[in-house]
Amino acid sequence: MSQPLSERIKNLPASATLAMAAKARELKNEGKDIIGLSLGEPDFNTPEFIKEAAIEAIQADYNSYTPVDGYAELKDAICTKFKRDNGLEYAPNQIVVSTGAKQSIANVVQVLINPGDDVLLVAPYWVSYSAMVILAEGNPIEIRSDIKTDFKITPQQLEDAITPKTKLVMLNSPNNPSGSMYTKAEYEALAAVLEKHPNIYVLSDEIYEHINYDGVTPFSFAAVPSMYERTITVNGLAKAFAMTGWRIGYLGGPAWIAKACTKIQGQVTSGTNCIAQRAAITAVLAPVSKIKYMVDEFDFRRKRIIDLLQDIEGFTVNVPKGAFYVFPDISFFFGKKLNGTRIESASDFAMYLLEKANVATVTGDAFGCPNNIRISYAASLEEIEEAIRRIKEAVS
Ligand code: GLU
Repeated sequence: MSQPLSERIKNLPASATLAMAAKARELKNEGKDIIGLSLGEPDFNTPEFIKEAAIEAIQADYNSYTPVDGYAELKDAICTKFKRDNGLEYAPNQIVVSTGAKQSIANVVQVLINPGDDVLLVAPYWVSYSAMVILAEGNPIEIRSDIKTDFKITPQQLEDAITPKTKLVMLNSPNNPSGSMYTKAEYEALAAVLEKHPNIYVLSDEIYEHINYDGVTPFSFAAVPSMYERTITVNGLAKAFAMTGWRIGYLGGPAWIAKACTKIQGQVTSGTNCIAQRAAITAVLAPVSKIKYMVDEFDFRRKRIIDLLQDIEGFTVNVPKGAFYVFPDISFFFGKKLNGTRIESASDFAMYLLEKANVATVTGDAFGCPNNIRISYAASLEEIEEAIRRIKEAVS
């Protein structure tokens, strides 16, 4: 029987992160001893004080549809958070709560992009950005960076990528997959370029904001005064609060964009889960010190994994300042044979690690960086040490 799917879905690549996680799960179920370092998912439990807020909400009979853009109390709490952490003044009509930051980003792309518009993606970029642009019939345009520039772009690169068709730039700091962070001065320099192009909007994905190391302070792009009116700031609870499955993301931005995002959400999903939203009020207002124990643990693992990877010939390792990924350059192996398997690409290398070392990582191809692989260190120290030991053995 024919399967007449739409061209839209036929042209859409599957999510490489989720595909690798699914493959690892499948192999595990078959009895293989797989260590999954592919998914960016904290291995901590959701903190007790947030769980208690959710239980209270269930007992208080929160069960109805919520406003499409989120409970008023949650939007107020998000306004307080934006002011407290980011120095950003947003009113409640500038906030939309969604089913994960993923939906917030997808909403923005849908409401801004017309067929044929160019969207600038700073590579490495998160896998789903390009897919979301393709769904909106825009053109994803990569601005490339690599390990030599700490995976950051220069103002000149941004300027060179802009054309009359450019509508949106997607930024992400701390970055998934590289962990790099832009400083205030670096963002101001990029903003100076955009000041000359008033028709370009900016999506600033700040989902890893609270997970940062070495005293580097995260900076919100919308906090550059000239950028406030055209930046959409996206954040969420999944990463810093160990709430990936609760699906709470949100955005702050111009009221007309928030209104349009509410309109599309109203036709597609409605407001997100009511219990998760009640718990989110508590999470968003909690002092950041309450989640520091998780960040400290990630930091410990970060240092350990860097040490271990630096010891493997052929791995060039960056030192991430945020998030929980390392993104080593493994192009040394291209054109070589490892135990009889010829490696031509990062995808070959990631597949080789899965098959020979039983370690799941993600190919850099999916992030617009064909020389790298992404390794998540949001796993236990024992798993990390064992995984790197196996990788070392498999490539020696
Ligand atoms: N954002 C996480 C990652 O990059 C979760 C998986 C996904 O949605 O891509 O691994």
